[in-house]
Amino acid sequence: ADAPAGLGSWPARRARIDPDRPALVEGERTLTHAGLARRTARLAGALAALGVRPGDRVAYLGVNATSVFETFFATWLLGAVAVPLNYRLAGAEIRYMLDDAGASVLVHSPDADALLASARPLPAGVRHLLAVPGEYEEAIAAAEPLAAPPAVGLDAPAILLYTSGTTGRPKAAVLTHGNLTWNTINQLAHVDVLSTDRALCIAPLFHCVGLGQVTLPTLFKGGSVEPLPAFDAGAVLARIAQARITSFSAVPTMLQMMVEHPSWDAVDLGSLHTVLYGGSPVQERVARAWLERGVRVRQGYGMTEASPGVYMVPGEGGTERPVSVGVPHFYTDVAMLRDGEVGPLAGEPAELLVRGPHVFAGYWQRPQETEAVFVDGWFRSGDVLRVADDGWADVVDRVKDVIISGGENIYPAEVEAVLVQLDDVADAAVVGVPDARWGEVGVAYVQPRPGAVPPEAQLRAHMEAHLARFKIPKYVELVDALPRNATGKVRRVELRERAAATVPPEGPA
Ligand code: ATP
Repeated sequence: ADAPAGLGSWPARRARIDPDRPALVEGERTLTHAGLARRTARLAGALAALGVRPGDRVAYLGVNATSVFETFFATWLLGAVAVPLNYRLAGAEIRYMLDDAGASVLVHSPDADALLASARPLPAGVRHLLAVPGEYEEAIAAAEPLAAPPAVGLDAPAILLYTSGTTGRPKAAVLTHGNLTWNTINQLAHVDVLSTDRALCIAPLFHCVGLGQVTLPTLFKGGSVEPLPAFDAGAVLARIAQARITSFSAVPTMLQMMVEHPSWDAVDLGSLHTVLYGGSPVQERVARAWLERGVRVRQGYGMTEASPGVYMVPGEGGTERPVSVGVPHFYTDVAMLRDGEVGPLAGEPAELLVRGPHVFAGYWQRPQETEAVFVDGWFRSGDVLRVADDGWADVVDRVKDVIISGGENIYPAEVEAVLVQLDDVADAAVVGVPDARWGEVGVAYVQPRPGAVPPEAQLRAHMEAHLARFKIPKYVELVDALPRNATGKVRRVELRERAAATVPPEGPA
């Protein structure tokens, strides 16, 4: 366990095999694998000179860039722990996370200047700020490469990832070097990644979809990664054609925005061989639109705590099941929680349990929250899945989003999938609201297509044709846009608050 097998050794190991191949592409600048190894060794030297020791936390605040990767690998080489922060949060939240993580160094890029200003005063533990590019480049130029990197075992913590916080106070999952390495091996066992790949990194790197699905596996194999600072559907489509991009991973809203972009029909997508997505439910028509363009988009299912991959559509098949999440990864074991016991997969939908070397050991300094998500050594996903006899799974919904109305379970995702079948509906979200008679009833928030105003009677008639009566939301409201977080997840907490504020608890007195 003491062998220097940590993630920080990746650049130097890869540089022995493919020194001159591109590793990171940013605008006109290309960094080779040898260059990445050199710069991360110097940055690690600079961080060590600032007093960073194994186990210390090094935070990063800013959009996707080469410097995020360099900071990660340098931190890992030192045996320290990287803490990428969500740059879409408010200043107070950044301050909270810096404090919670106990970060001693914060690397930040100019795009986050205003956010950083609003996060002040920073916690006293943050002793050094390193501004990209100025101070950061000076530090790399002045430093000696880290002379003797410590042995970093696979059990050492590598990264703190704050879960998206759609449920309460943000807590950080601690992923070890081993967790991220095993996820990489799982991905490579499941999808084709080549040393000639040119991947785009479009999902943010503070989230596991951005990091784990394509990015780390591509660097591991010696391919190149081009981090994009912001998601712009038209720019991404243009870049795919221009740079002959082979692969990327995305959240479903990104795939949807590309399909809806005016340049969609004209752009050449022929270079793509691996497009993975996950993180929230996909609309069937969006998946189909990509498949019809000949791009085999493949859905994955996972979560931060699993580093993140749990299920993924395999290379063959799946086109006839466009919203399925496929089969478990190679080194992933799955079971179901039935009546509080670990049970078989087959049968009625139930909460999925996950086990494997990529599953985390716990949340950062939250023993109670950690205990609550494990049962007999299995991680409780919090999600209800339906598994077919051949092992292919569909995500039904989150356990905590289930609406219980008159004793019946309503899965909002099922109702939403029916609503978005209508041409006039761009998106929909259903949440529960307390009701004196039924316990809870559904409220549907429907986002029409631009220019469309679908009458409620039409929405109801469509739902009545496709859903059991008890599943049909009691209230329907049209909205301009659904509230979403940085990774495209609907902010249900916000919708629930809104529903509770506008819908009076009714029923017989
Ligand atoms: P929080 O715990 O703060 O609410 P989060 O659960 O959103 O954060 P993530 O790790 O970002 O944290 O997301 C994992 C969750 O995303 C899964 O548990 C599942 O609910 C959902 N998810 C992931 N992939 C899919 C998918 N392919 N289809 C539907 N839902 C998915």
